[in-house]
Amino acid sequence: MDSKQVSTKKYEFKAEVKQLLDILVHSLYTSREIFLRELISNASDALDKLRFESTRGTEITDKDLPLEIKIFFDEKNKLLTVTDTGIGMSRDEVISNIGTIAKSGSVEFLKQLKENQTDTNNIIGKFGVGFYSVFMVAEDVVIKTKSFRVGEPAIEWQSNGLGDYEIAELDGNINRGTSIEIHLKDDAKEFTEKYRLETIIKKHSNFISFPIYLGSEKINTVAALWREPKTSVKKEQYNEFYKFLTYDSEEPEDVIHISIDAPIQFNSLMFIPKKSFDFFGYNREDYGLDLYVRRVLIQHKNKDLLPEYLGFVKGVVDSEDLPLNISRETLQENIIFTKIAQNITGQILSYLIKKAKDEPEKYAEFWKEHGRIFKLGYSDFTNVEKYNQLLRFNSSAKTDAGGLTSLEEYISRFKEDQKEIYYAFGSSRDAINQDPHLEIFKNKNLEVFYLYDPIDEFVLSTLRKYKDYEFKSVDSVDLKNFDKYKDTEEKKVEPEELSKEDEKHFDSLLSRIKDILGDRVVEVKESKRLSGSPAILVNPDDTMSSTMQKIMRMTNKDMSIQKKVFEINRDHKLIRNLLKVFKSNSKDEYISNIVEELFESALLLDGSLNDPHKLVSRLNQLLEQSSDWYTEIKKL
Ligand code: ADP
Ligand code: MG
Repeated sequence: MDSKQVSTKKYEFKAEVKQLLDILVHSLYTSREIFLRELISNASDALDKLRFESTRGTEITDKDLPLEIKIFFDEKNKLLTVTDTGIGMSRDEVISNIGTIAKSGSVEFLKQLKENQTDTNNIIGKFGVGFYSVFMVAEDVVIKTKSFRVGEPAIEWQSNGLGDYEIAELDGNINRGTSIEIHLKDDAKEFTEKYRLETIIKKHSNFISFPIYLGSEKINTVAALWREPKTSVKKEQYNEFYKFLTYDSEEPEDVIHISIDAPIQFNSLMFIPKKSFDFFGYNREDYGLDLYVRRVLIQHKNKDLLPEYLGFVKGVVDSEDLPLNISRETLQENIIFTKIAQNITGQILSYLIKKAKDEPEKYAEFWKEHGRIFKLGYSDFTNVEKYNQLLRFNSSAKTDAGGLTSLEEYISRFKEDQKEIYYAFGSSRDAINQDPHLEIFKNKNLEVFYLYDPIDEFVLSTLRKYKDYEFKSVDSVDLKNFDKYKDTEEKKVEPEELSKEDEKHFDSLLSRIKDILGDRVVEVKESKRLSGSPAILVNPDDTMSSTMQKIMRMTNKDMSIQKKVFEINRDHKLIRNLLKVFKSNSKDEYISNIVEELFESALLLDGSLNDPHKLVSRLNQLLEQSSDWYTEIKKL
């Protein structure tokens, strides 16, 4: 390649690029070798794009060049060169592709570093910071590139990665594609050793679908593993391919390899990772399956092949039945494509159902890792039956917060005549266990699902029912249905009966309480559900559960607070004492103090107390009074 530079111009890197470079140049990252993976993957992308253009019939410079990647090493000059015959870049493309960070992964990488000083070492490899990773090993980099577009001049880009770069046009006889010359740092000489290079390529880039030559020797396997018959693929090959695809250092938990011939032909090789990739909770956009048509890559991470809730699945799909020149924009309208996508979703769900049945412990592990994303599938109405079979929750029938149960298991433990499935929401198992709403469920020995994740309530209120059984929040149940269930033994400590006369007084006390609370409550009535607590707030029949109301308020859908029914436990010691006070003086201020306190405590438990100041100052006052009485009794 004989060439000379004309009209060199200097540019500065954008601020965020400088930042990234600064980290990479000074990085002590132990697996610097991944720079080669990044360059080869860029070369492969460029070749994929070229192949795509040529199947569309675009006119292409040097159209007979073989599609390949070549790597040269020169130990004496500490020089490594990676070349490809791909799509190349024009001057503007070099500036916008190499001069800025378009890649969301890198942007996210920087954000994470800034926000929580995350261990650089751990994430460089996983994110794949792209082209710039070359500066971990290079003191100077020269890119020579020529676009596939007819008539574009060749371009040279040069930088030491410190602050700026130079761009010049090249004259002379240059082939289409890109060559990257890496002038290695003194401590990176190992990357000119043939054996070392060969090992790196085999480890990270073995499944690249274009030949990779090291010197004159072809290194990679170039096999479309997903097209091989299942029986001939070894576990190691699956693992290797998975690592190549995902950059995960662990082996996959599951391999789903399918090959369908009719009515539509396609192959798919999919994996479920052991650990969720959603490690910062941000990665929700980063999912999809690689789509191939007749072994030609059409699109990386196509999102329409997988619903978001199965986004933890990684893999590839390849079909004979899609046209090679299909454009990414019209894929969704293609009926064959849509059928393939539906089939894949069905296959994954069936696979999981089988796993849940055959290996429940393994399924529980899967659930703990990927369940949060999976639950988002509550709106996939076409697959609701399969989805339901895969849902898991903690429940009162389990001994600890880690125990999981399915909907089917829950109904297998139904009481005779039970028609509803009950659930309670709380921040932890302890919190739910303390919830007064659960007292009656404990007394009647009715199982309750324990939900800890706000999405769980969305799931259940969207599904509305399982089979014929409605989901009911413990704070919105109709107690009329509960009489048919017997109390458990423990409840049998019968309270003292109220006299006929006191019953009347109690009714008047309820009216007095309603007067005190005014229209802050819908109604005040005697509770049939409490055993240990003096009072509780419940939702009027057929309204949303309290958590759901809270979520609606948070998402601004409904700003008003739903008014509730205030239920009073007639048998509670406190209420009995209050009744005595009431009988002697129905207007006693002590009554209103206690009622306000009970009401606000109930609001607090309900999660709808906006301002706790009054509650606390009243509580302090009551504590002060009780300390007076205590010292009096003790004669101190
Ligand atoms: P990513 O590959 O994720 O886009 P990179 O930092 O690796 O991020 O590369 C940035 C961009 O530079 C690529 O998207 C591509 O447009 C361009 N590029 C890099 N290497 C090549 C190459 N060998 N041939 C053509 N374009 C390339
Ligand atoms: Mg890249």
